[in-house]
Amino acid sequence: MGRERLLGLKCEQCGTLYPPEDECQTCCPQCGPRYGTLECRLDYDYIRRLLNKNPLMNRRDMSMFRYRELLPVINAESHVPLHIGWTPVYESEMAAKNLNLGRVFVKDDGLNPTASYKDRASAIAVARARELDFEAICTASTGNAAASLAACAASVHLPCIVIVPVATPQAKLMQMLAFGATVIPIDGSYDQAFNLTIEVCREFGWMNRSAGFNPYLVEGKKTGAIELAEQMGFDVPDVVFVSVGDGSIITGLCKGFKELRLLGFTDRCPKVIGVQAAGANVLVQAWNRYMETGEANFNPIPNPHTIADSICVGEPREGIRALKAVKSVGGYFMDVTDDEILNAMKRMPLETGVFGEPASATAYAGLIKASPSLGKDVSAAVLITGSGLKDLATAGSLWKTDDNPLEPSINSFDQILEKVRQNEER
Ligand SMILES: *Cc1c(COP(=O)(O)O)cnc(C)c1O
Ligand SMILES: [Zn+2]
Repeated sequence: MGRERLLGLKCEQCGTLYPPEDECQTCCPQCGPRYGTLECRLDYDYIRRLLNKNPLMNRRDMSMFRYRELLPVINAESHVPLHIGWTPVYESEMAAKNLNLGRVFVKDDGLNPTASYKDRASAIAVARARELDFEAICTASTGNAAASLAACAASVHLPCIVIVPVATPQAKLMQMLAFGATVIPIDGSYDQAFNLTIEVCREFGWMNRSAGFNPYLVEGKKTGAIELAEQMGFDVPDVVFVSVGDGSIITGLCKGFKELRLLGFTDRCPKVIGVQAAGANVLVQAWNRYMETGEANFNPIPNPHTIADSICVGEPREGIRALKAVKSVGGYFMDVTDDEILNAMKRMPLETGVFGEPASATAYAGLIKASPSLGKDVSAAVLITGSGLKDLATAGSLWKTDDNPLEPSINSFDQILEKVRQNEER
């Protein structure tokens, strides 16, 4: 069971279909890595029959694996034992009111095992690594992918090697180390770490989980869309905001929404809106050109910069697939400044109850910025891709505790009241 679902891996550029067992499980050898990963082609007629036999509503598995028929993992036993996905969706009436929108929802993927959306992809990469008999798995990462891969690999005792920029936030580094990964910090950028993984994986025969190189990631990343739809009773929102670095999450989301329509669960796709940081906005520039010329292509930038470390990407490896995917659902790309990201990082916990890292707040900043153009009847969802605890250095630039601790006695009552008053005025 299972093998029949995965027809093969297809190059969206030239159309070649490679068999799923093929060692070529990366980019198209003819077109090269520029066009991103091959797409997992699934047999939807076959899947539709399986889903009829065991409908979604009967399932007890409250994790991303409840959609196993839609995942490119051949044996159910290959899945990692961690509980990934089925993260909560919250409606915020306050955000809807403040932004003058119909309804606003947030989906908190900071509640995954390693506190980011990346767990959805790492789970599939590790399962496939086991099925394809790899002895180790490696990734380049701005932090979350490596933390996530370290945990998923540790859960099945698969050796894991991660290559990350030295400037990676501490919390993410500690996660990698705690889960026993071999951590290779490099004196360089994420884009350089990516290039190094290609070389070392080729040399040592490791599976490469890097985004935009491993074709199974998008399949894991699509589960966030499928879940959001199911959690909303398949009445999908009009627009979905997500932050974009390599473009892997957004490609997956678009695929997930399209599959649901194909399978008849929904009657429309939300417009998916990709939000980038202004200092790392390769895909925003590319989108504008794409809309003018019809050519989906991008120009890498050598020195991307933003406080949102998770999306500080100068060469988006899944960029071209992301551009086409977003076009296919009627969405678009936009960018926000670091100041707008910090502002959103402050507002989001107060308006939605969820504390996100800067890259998650980027999507919320996109919602805030786009809201005047959306209309008061629009329902919008924001994907919160990583927990605020991931990057306390940036949080520390926003919030501080008082440097003068109070005397622990009734003598402090007046000062306590004064502090409450001050906090209300903020
Ligand atoms: C990786 C990441 C993103 C962006 O995902 P891409 O697939 O690189 O576009 C956004 N937010 C967080 C928290 C991430 O870790
Ligand atoms: Zn090709």
